[in-house]
Amino acid sequence: MKAFAAFLVAIVFALEFSPAPAKVPPADLVFKNGNIYTVNARQPSAEAVAVKGDRIIFVGSNRAAQNYVGKNTRVIDLNGRTMVPGMTDAHHHLSGVGFREITLNLEGITSLEAFLAKVKERVDQKQPGEWVTGRGWIETFWTPPVFPTRWDLDKIAPNNPVFLDRADGHGAVANSAALKIAGVDKNTPSPFGGEVSKDKQSGEPNGMFLDAAQDLIQRHIPGTTAAEAERAIILGVKRDIELGWTQVKDPGGSYAEVAIDSKLYSEGKIKLRIYKALSAPGPEADKLFHDGPKIGEYANRLTVRTLKLYADGSLGSRSAALLQPYSDKPDTSGFLTIKEEDLQPLLAEALRKGIQIETHAIGDRGNRFILDQYEKAMNGVPRAEWKIKEPRWRVEHSQIVNPADIPRFKKLGIIPSMQASHAIGDLHFAPARLGIARLRGAYAWQSFLKSGSIIPGGSDAPVERGEPMIEFYAAVARKDLKGFSGEGWHPEEAVTREQALKMFTIWPAYAAFEETLRGSIENGKLADFTVFSADIMKVPEMEILKTRCVMTVIGGEIVYEAK
Ligand SMILES: [Zn+2]
Repeated sequence: MKAFAAFLVAIVFALEFSPAPAKVPPADLVFKNGNIYTVNARQPSAEAVAVKGDRIIFVGSNRAAQNYVGKNTRVIDLNGRTMVPGMTDAHHHLSGVGFREITLNLEGITSLEAFLAKVKERVDQKQPGEWVTGRGWIETFWTPPVFPTRWDLDKIAPNNPVFLDRADGHGAVANSAALKIAGVDKNTPSPFGGEVSKDKQSGEPNGMFLDAAQDLIQRHIPGTTAAEAERAIILGVKRDIELGWTQVKDPGGSYAEVAIDSKLYSEGKIKLRIYKALSAPGPEADKLFHDGPKIGEYANRLTVRTLKLYADGSLGSRSAALLQPYSDKPDTSGFLTIKEEDLQPLLAEALRKGIQIETHAIGDRGNRFILDQYEKAMNGVPRAEWKIKEPRWRVEHSQIVNPADIPRFKKLGIIPSMQASHAIGDLHFAPARLGIARLRGAYAWQSFLKSGSIIPGGSDAPVERGEPMIEFYAAVARKDLKGFSGEGWHPEEAVTREQALKMFTIWPAYAAFEETLRGSIENGKLADFTVFSADIMKVPEMEILKTRCVMTVIGGEIVYEAK
């Protein structure tokens, strides 16, 4: 009997510690004891992952992962923490995020007085005549919610030109010194696609510049130096990887910015993956058409194959193009910022050359206009002449869409790229702008998904904060950070946690033609992971906001580890 027991022990011992059935290569990294959500339907969860070079070579149990542990393998015990595919922000203005870290940050202010006090602090540090610039104010969070004027700013900055962007970048306020330098007065007309706001009584510009009109002032502000631009990218990337982002899709910019990204990659100073779009129409678009795309440079870190266009403005600034007038300002319904005759030749060339198009559209008229334009171009170029059969064109924001237009996205193969946090930032003023009835097609995530669309999720930082957990929470809760959502805010449009996870992993990968490369934890894909302090798929809603990124892995390299 004793001998038999020893025999059993021997068998159990042999099973537990038997060598690998087939020889497998030792991994560079093995993560074990994880609560891993793979976003792969065939194997939704796992305990362990093995990585060699920048690729995943194994996903499965702790025990089987042991086969991949060689003498040089680093084994990381996740201690039950939650790992997901590397989080991607599908709409993230990287240099804007970086400059927000550097310049006057006007977020989080709650009144005009506090706003002026903060700007005054900066003015006091400057020499007379020096420009003061900054970004991030949102008057809808102020009590009372009034736009600042040039005259408000004149009180604290009589001798310095001041120009301050609203958080959404679709409006800015300038003081009289800035207007004087720019030569703007009561006779200055509003340019196409913009508005020089004027005082109703006197007809004098009141200091607010919307959309294209901002350039009247902006062109007089001394440009940033290359060194500052580099520093902004480095700071932006540092912040992003600490929050758990492994890729950002940077919507709009120049070849000069591409050159900075490239330089920083080749010097090993940044690791975050960047999917960079160039601003169009104009010289950047001409160059992309001429030179062709860059795909997967710097070990799949940098891709440039997309043009970013604008169809309209923003809801906050009442410059988004609506089919009916604004409910809280019936004399306007916003405006389009691009003309059909400029758009059609560009769209046709993009189809022929395999260039992806993404267009900012917020209002229901802006969205209908761009869908019509995409459809017209697609009908105008014979399919045989399309370089890419599935062009995967996108509409950025798709924010207020007439319900009749929602199914058109799927039908045309157009991807609605949406920002969860806009729905929770806007819920305090969108009902006033739109009225209750129009909210039915606003931030309509579940309606889009039911119609068969996918939704790459983004933050639009620095318009919003740009944090993975705020986005994830916003998508599943559809309530503000205090848990509030008002009347008519359509809670049924919130998404499930499984859908939310896809919004920040596999769906952005698809929208970037990268679904076989990243976006899920599967053998052969890039080893991009985000590890969180809590189980975001199970914790109570409010706990999502307290969840922290504890580790970020990009291409098999641990780029951030919480202390
Ligand atoms: Zn944006």
